Amino acid sequence: MSEIDTSNLDFIRTIVAQDLAAGKNDGRLVTRFPPEPNGYLHIGHAKSICLNFGLAQEYPQGVCHMRFDDTNPEKESVEYTEAIQADVKWLGFDWGENLFYASDYFDVLYDYAVQLVAMGKAYVCSLTAEEMRAYRGTLKEPGKNSPHRQRSVTENLALLEGMKNGEFSDGAHVLRAKIDMASPNINMRDPIIYRIRKVSHHRTGDKWCIYPMYDFTHSLSDAMEKITHSLCTLEFADHRPLYDWFLDTLQTPCHPQQIEFARLNLNFTVMSKRKLMQMVDEKLVNGWDDPRMLTISGLRRRGYTPASIRRFCAEIGVAKRESRIDMGILENAVRDDLNDIAPRRLAVLHPLKVVITNYPEEKEEELTVANHPKNPEMGTRLIPFSREIYIDHDDFLEEPPKKFFRLAPGREVRLRAAYFITCNEVVKDAEGAIIELRCSYDPASRGGSSPDGRKVKATLHWVSARHAVAAEIRLYDRLFNQANPEADPDIDFKEHLNPDSLQILADCRVEPSLLEATSSDYFQFERVGFFHLDSKESRPARPVFNRTVTLRDTWAKVAAQ
Ligand code: ATP
Ligand code: MG
Repeated sequence: MSEIDTSNLDFIRTIVAQDLAAGKNDGRLVTRFPPEPNGYLHIGHAKSICLNFGLAQEYPQGVCHMRFDDTNPEKESVEYTEAIQADVKWLGFDWGENLFYASDYFDVLYDYAVQLVAMGKAYVCSLTAEEMRAYRGTLKEPGKNSPHRQRSVTENLALLEGMKNGEFSDGAHVLRAKIDMASPNINMRDPIIYRIRKVSHHRTGDKWCIYPMYDFTHSLSDAMEKITHSLCTLEFADHRPLYDWFLDTLQTPCHPQQIEFARLNLNFTVMSKRKLMQMVDEKLVNGWDDPRMLTISGLRRRGYTPASIRRFCAEIGVAKRESRIDMGILENAVRDDLNDIAPRRLAVLHPLKVVITNYPEEKEEELTVANHPKNPEMGTRLIPFSREIYIDHDDFLEEPPKKFFRLAPGREVRLRAAYFITCNEVVKDAEGAIIELRCSYDPASRGGSSPDGRKVKATLHWVSARHAVAAEIRLYDRLFNQANPEADPDIDFKEHLNPDSLQILADCRVEPSLLEATSSDYFQFERVGFFHLDSKESRPARPVFNRTVTLRDTWAKVAAQ
């Protein structure tokens, strides 16, 4: 084997590099991403997508197949297959011509099953599910042979044919591989290959009333597609002997190598589709694409970029050992990406009106603001200024404590790219709540520069009251308030939902340019955070923005206290 440098490669990439250098598989590299269309993809799937499609991209001959593992018709649907394809494409990957469905192989798979029966390597078993469990044995005790294990090939072929033809009801019989009921690996104790399910399939309709099981389908689908490296998560390590048994026992075009890696576990969320579906069904979230969900569609709606998710997957890497990744790593990935690419905008979340008393009533002007502080290529824009503006309520305190440098009575601050203003008067309602500030501005400070070198300690964001657009802004926090909501099996993970994960601010004011925002834009609202238009719930003249992530990691601070 020629010497290759694998020092910078993870263990899977090392195996692939070595196999290619050794000329294995005739120099081919074929991976696959095999989702079951029984829900939407989540961030854990993104790890598998980036690995399988990413690996294929790294070699000129690399190919990655998209294959739907659609063998459980009652849980699967066209909606899910379409959503999954859209998500993978959005992440930036392309399977080209290589879109496959396990259901396309149902005929061939059935033929393979007939072959196993003919070889005496599979039999029809008529035990009930309960009996079968009892016969299976335990981790410590071997199983017992089914009384039907000795059925003749002829009888088995006839029964299998009958199963296929719908002559029996659900559960009456199953087809099982004849392997070893005493195997220490329970997966090898005569696993089921086919079961009767009289339900329609979203692609094959009512053609079939028996459906093949995962291990049988998966190994043979891989072989038929001439996959070279079949990458899956660690829980399938115990299934590898069975994967290999099917491929060794049957005549298949090739024998792909199954390699297992650690699945992604992320703090402050749950990852399995089953649990995500529970939250959707129980309306604890607003659908699979709720921006708090760690689904690809949720992250997209929230304002994560495809690049940020790929960056995250590259950062966490691929390893053999299980670990939990901190949510902060995902949040940092999007923060870093958006910091570079997101144009800056002005938006006031808690509007407090400021009247600039020495600014003429009818006057309006347009001020030039840079779209990005470090990237002049992103250009500038004009924002309107007038006598009445809004600043954020949090930027004013009537009795400021020591380290509060923002606006206060008698104090001068800078309005971003506009003017210096000084607060002269605080107007309150009958209950004593502040309703308006009356300020004066220095006309010589236009653009926000100091006219005479005098310094101000704060720069505030603002919008012109007359021109601003009313918007709804949704602030999201982590969906769970426990790092591992599944830690205690006796406590339902939903008990750990964070009641404050969504805060709706219905009465915000944003700069007029944001009326043209689309869902392909990503913004930083200066001093506030990164935001993204919610294209689903925005209305003309009333945009809704989702906070993607805060400017800084506030949870790290909490954790450090
Ligand atoms: P879930 O438990 O969420 O239903 P799954 O494994 O049943 O996930 P599939 O649709 O069967 O979902 O998965 C498609 C591929 O994605 C599989 O190869 C699986 O190993 C991989 N995958 C699923 N979850 C993760 C995860 N958390 N980390 C890495 N890969 C994952
Ligand atoms: Mg699954």
